Amino acid sequence: MQLIYEQSIDGRRGVRLPASDVPAALPLPAELLRKEAAGLPEVSELDTVRHFTNLSRRNFSVDTHFYPLGSCTMKYNVKATENGAALFNGEHPLLPLLPGGEPHAQGSLALLHGLATSLAEITGMAEVTTQPLAGAHGEMTGIMLIAAYHKAKGNKKRYVIVPDSSHGTNPASAAMVGYEIITIPTAPYGDMDLDAFRAAMNNEVAAVMMTCPNTLGLFNPHIKEICDIAHSFDALCYYDGANLNAIMGKVRPGDVGFDVIHLNLHKTFGTPHGGGGPGSGPVGVKEALVPFLPLPRIVKNDSGFILETTNPASIGRTANFFGNFGVMVKAYAYILLLGREGLIRVSEQAVLNANYIMARLKGHYDLPYDFTCMHECVFSASRQVKQGVHALDIAKYLIDQGYHPPTVYFPLIVKDAIMIEPTETESKATMDLFIQVMIQAAELAESDPGAFAALPATMPVSRLDETRAARSQQVCFAGC
Ligand SMILES: *Cc1c(COP(=O)(O)O)cnc(C)c1O
Repeated sequence: MQLIYEQSIDGRRGVRLPASDVPAALPLPAELLRKEAAGLPEVSELDTVRHFTNLSRRNFSVDTHFYPLGSCTMKYNVKATENGAALFNGEHPLLPLLPGGEPHAQGSLALLHGLATSLAEITGMAEVTTQPLAGAHGEMTGIMLIAAYHKAKGNKKRYVIVPDSSHGTNPASAAMVGYEIITIPTAPYGDMDLDAFRAAMNNEVAAVMMTCPNTLGLFNPHIKEICDIAHSFDALCYYDGANLNAIMGKVRPGDVGFDVIHLNLHKTFGTPHGGGGPGSGPVGVKEALVPFLPLPRIVKNDSGFILETTNPASIGRTANFFGNFGVMVKAYAYILLLGREGLIRVSEQAVLNANYIMARLKGHYDLPYDFTCMHECVFSASRQVKQGVHALDIAKYLIDQGYHPPTVYFPLIVKDAIMIEPTETESKATMDLFIQVMIQAAELAESDPGAFAALPATMPVSRLDETRAARSQQVCFAGC
């Protein structure tokens, strides 16, 4: 394929605009203007369309391939929700206030309020802020709320407890807010070791951060006890709800004692993600933390919605406007489309699908924590490693067979982990084909382990130096 820069011909244009009939206005201070042209390829509209369409066809996406990426809930994004987002694209968030002082954008505020109310109901929280722009941003916001709570009470707190099976963003977020991390090991039954947790608890612990189901795909039967112990030290309980896919309508984190939760709308609530695209990580809190929520807060009164913009206790703004608004329109449309019964069925089907794959592949791959799983299951390639075939090699095999690989090498506590999350949107037929390919990979590891070194063989690039790719990134527009 010819690169787009190689197709450039001086003077060729995709679009020719008519001469302007209004005086040119400079939007910037003149010294900020470019001195020389940007050196972009000069190509026709058709060249440009072909370039980007061909690039997009080299990609894996849920719309093109099965994408069982554990911990990331790559479910099908219902296209009807896009229509919802398109309805809202004309409203500027800086519209002037109405004569009574209320914000103009009453419809948008009603939508945000409706979404926040639904999420509060699903999670068992008192109030939800939609501002955070991603899951990790939600975590940081949540921990800032916890810090504000302790500060207001005069509590001296230093530590945040996280289990070693936690998502890597949990300790990172707590550390960014200034806490030291206490890591608790995983017990043989797959959950945070309760005795080690009891021994670590003390009056200086600000919060316990849990993911439940945890990153082994297991539900912790002791969460209520853990919350009770934490509360007896006036520590708060944080629920990482990035993946709520297993528990919607089954258990509400607020009911078992959690005080703060973040959700990933771009995982559980069917909005697109990946490639660093816009996300949304709303945070829900119990009553005691409501005063600290970010501003502006949307408040409903008799005449409509108003914005609370001053409150000295608030942690302040965490994002521009109200977060990634388009994402929230899609998530709200998703919730309304499915309704209460639909969301419950999502969870039931997601758990059934993961257990089906776990049961069918158990004879072929090691399953270090062999319990009924929730929305994902975690295998280890340790049996294949004895033949020199690692989780990464299995992943490369799957790419050639037309599958986005599962998450590999995470969670860190499982050697050569292969973490599979099928989600509720895949059919049994799709899962059966995937299972067959996974079994073929296990068989190839026995019969011809050397064959993996040449894979993937069908992709534009084969094995990459992944360390170098991550460390010295080059953003490339030229089809490299
Ligand atoms: C994805 C994920 C996060 C982080 O979410 P981002 O939107 O990627 O920042 C946090 N915790 C868990 C358990 C996750 O799966």
